[in-house]
Amino acid sequence: IASKLPNVGTTIFTKMSALAAEKGAINLSQGFPDFPADTRLLERASQALLQGNNQYSPMTGLPILRDAIGDLIARHYDRKVDPVNEITVTSGASEAIFDAISSLVHPGDEVLLFDPAYDLYEPAVQLAGGVCKRVVLKAPAFRPDWTEVDTLVSDKTRLVLINTPHNPTGTCWQNEDLEQLWQIISTRDIHVLSDEVYEFIHFQTKSVSVHQHELLRERSVIVSSFGKSFHLTGWKVGYVVAPSALTRELRKVHQFVTFCTATPFQQAIAEHLNEVPEASAELAGFYQQKRDVLRQALEGSRFTLLPCEGTYFQLLDYSAISDLDDVAFCEHLIEQVGVAAIPVSVFYQNPPTGQKLIRLCFAKDESTLIVAAQQLAQL
Ligand code: PMP
Ligand code: GLN
Repeated sequence: IASKLPNVGTTIFTKMSALAAEKGAINLSQGFPDFPADTRLLERASQALLQGNNQYSPMTGLPILRDAIGDLIARHYDRKVDPVNEITVTSGASEAIFDAISSLVHPGDEVLLFDPAYDLYEPAVQLAGGVCKRVVLKAPAFRPDWTEVDTLVSDKTRLVLINTPHNPTGTCWQNEDLEQLWQIISTRDIHVLSDEVYEFIHFQTKSVSVHQHELLRERSVIVSSFGKSFHLTGWKVGYVVAPSALTRELRKVHQFVTFCTATPFQQAIAEHLNEVPEASAELAGFYQQKRDVLRQALEGSRFTLLPCEGTYFQLLDYSAISDLDDVAFCEHLIEQVGVAAIPVSVFYQNPPTGQKLIRLCFAKDESTLIVAAQQLAQL
């Protein structure tokens, strides 16, 4: 059949996790925790199931959860959002991103992305008939070049897709980045899709959110995920915050893609947010500890560690170790070293020639990180 996504295969995450399982390698490739979520949250979920919260929720999400998300945003960003008209619960951030792109991008519209970018953005734009333009983030700082962004914006640009803290580079945007973005779009008919799934996982530098920019947020769809914030990637509960006019359009798509998100999980997360409101604020310290354990265990190895300001991903440069390209090097790591990683070139439209970077996920028990690092340090 005539493929609508002729250049898309199986994602690198599926491939690498399957290969890791087949070869018995420690899986630091696909981003997911190998430790359980808070027991109280798991108990709330089983109670929610047994107490009969098992039918469709309202299309927009359980009111108790939308209210709790509103409170979460007020606590972290001192912003008041309307849970009825501005918050929608989705089946993970993935669905939210797909809904946002489907509702905002018309055939022929241009969408600005940063290279490297998370894998689902571009196919979603293509399915909507849009065309992606990429602004390169240069290693090792991966900062946006705002002059280049300004040059790439055209009359056809309808959406700028941003992601902070950033997967795969681990960089975080600053206030001036949001201000530069605002200056570029303010006089044009352009919206912003801000993927903030790692919003609570940032270290040292203060990460910024579009929630904090009073003008930009009026043009923006902000996406997050409890998969990241509560170590529950398999529950697929995410949410979108957008002004009511954008929310109205996004919900038209959401109601036909999934209609609603698993009810018992929504109930459990809402109760947990209300009863343990400090949990999201503790996430950064929790992951900083893991990042530091991994970084220390790799000190003295032949890998060069890039800065990691946020997310649960650490980039390593292996140019002192091998001439292989990053995909071949990751295969070598699984086969010979017993550790699975993600080649960073897969996130690019135009991978920089000669760049030798791999991504490790440190959302793992410290003992796992130490064993993996010891194996890597033998190279
Ligand atoms: N955006 C980014 C940057 C991600 O890393 C991920 C997933 N890991 C997602 C979106 C999708 O999140 P979810 O699993 O909640 O769909
Ligand atoms: N976001 C996860 C990562 O970057 C992968 C999620 C998926 O497999 N789609 O590793």
